[in-house]
Amino acid sequence: MRLVVVGGVAAGLSAASRARRVDPSLEIIVLEKGERISYGACGLPYLIEGQAKSIEQLIVYKPEFFERERDIRIRTHSEVTAIHHGRREVILANQERIKYDRLVWAAGARPRTPQEFRNDPRAFSLHTDKDAERLQAFLDEKRPKTASVVGGGYIGLEMAGALRARGLSVILYQDTTDLLNREDAFFTGALLQHLQRCGIDVRMNTRAPSDPGTDLILCSAGLQPNTEIPSDAGIEIGRTGAIRTNERTETNLNGVFAAGDCAETTHVVSGRPAWLPLGTTANKMGRVAGANAAGRRERFTGIAGTTIVRIGGLGVAVTGFSELQARREGFSPVAARIHGRDKAKYFWGKGVQVELVADRSSRRLLGGSILGEDGVIGRINVIATALTGRLTVEDFSQIDLAYAPPYATAMDPLLIAAQQLARLLD
Ligand code: FAD
Repeated sequence: MRLVVVGGVAAGLSAASRARRVDPSLEIIVLEKGERISYGACGLPYLIEGQAKSIEQLIVYKPEFFERERDIRIRTHSEVTAIHHGRREVILANQERIKYDRLVWAAGARPRTPQEFRNDPRAFSLHTDKDAERLQAFLDEKRPKTASVVGGGYIGLEMAGALRARGLSVILYQDTTDLLNREDAFFTGALLQHLQRCGIDVRMNTRAPSDPGTDLILCSAGLQPNTEIPSDAGIEIGRTGAIRTNERTETNLNGVFAAGDCAETTHVVSGRPAWLPLGTTANKMGRVAGANAAGRRERFTGIAGTTIVRIGGLGVAVTGFSELQARREGFSPVAARIHGRDKAKYFWGKGVQVELVADRSSRRLLGGSILGEDGVIGRINVIATALTGRLTVEDFSQIDLAYAPPYATAMDPLLIAAQQLARLLD
């Protein structure tokens, strides 16, 4: 039995590795159109910022590792151009045909670059190792002084911070009233103030002009899942625009699975299809796709949309829905917003902003956001856990959170927010 995996990064390699563990006798081939496999794209902004010193530092494994340690064949420079499911084969760009019994499509997504910037030599996107090399070379050789960042999602925010850290003067254009896709005036307002303090000129509700007049243009205007080849082969695309999968990561074609940035999954709060392309999801979903392709029946339970970024020393994190988003999903949301302290004053405790959202009738927690210098990841992960466990505000306000002065306050800001939310719900 042969498993073919298309895509050699997070979802594809997680799938291949897990399949190997489940079935040692399986023949596994990974087809990757690029030159490198297994690199952490998440580190690319930090490469530009200077925290990581080379792309090599972002590579988790080399092809030889998979061949030697996991008996997985890795073929780079192997672009799949078609799937012929009737004959159970994929066609490569060089016309080679490769047979499969099971197929995992893990081909990721690609940036949506606005038309006006497609041929502009000052314009870059940051999605692959090659993009980072091109951008790095431009920064080193041309020494730009000014940059426009197009799009205020997490990559745009990280890149605005990275370019600012390199000393460029930065304008960030966002064509809606939200940042980080969080429709929430309180959250956006606090983040905006911080960006301005970092010296980033943010133009909200403004489309970037076709010639922004800066030395560099960084396009981070969203992603598009790589679905054309599977769609041509009869694989269903969901209403999010990504490949439709069930909880076992199966597509509508027997023996064909999809995982990672190309696939949609379920939102754990709404139970509806969701597409939020993130590395942590790709890894987990890929594992399930690999196990099931090798014969298991495992479930991928879905996502809460948990996202965290660091900009100019501030941790910014969201999970689940904002009040506005929750209302759109059919809930009757109530939100509590508090400013607290992340630890004791005599341990240099800093301000932390917490927002929690719950449903008025069920009192179930629906989402939250945090901004702070320290402890942001721990706190957002507690909220994400509560969302997955479908906790009510009362359950949440009783969680036995750890406390010692160097790490927190006796009444953690999360619990203060939960108590306030419970009062608002009464
Ligand atoms: P990809 O990583 O896109 O891999 C898909 C692979 O498939 C690619 O190598 C591609 O070359 C290959 N491929 C595509 N088409 C074909 C074909 N036809 N034939 C053969 N091969 C093909 N996520 C987080 O959770 N946290 C972060 O902090 C974070 N930061 C990020 C920062 C940046 C700058 C970027 C770009 C992404 C970041 N992400 C982050 C997102 C994360 O990197 C992706 O969600 C993750 O890489 C998705 O993994 P994937 O395997 O689904 O797709």
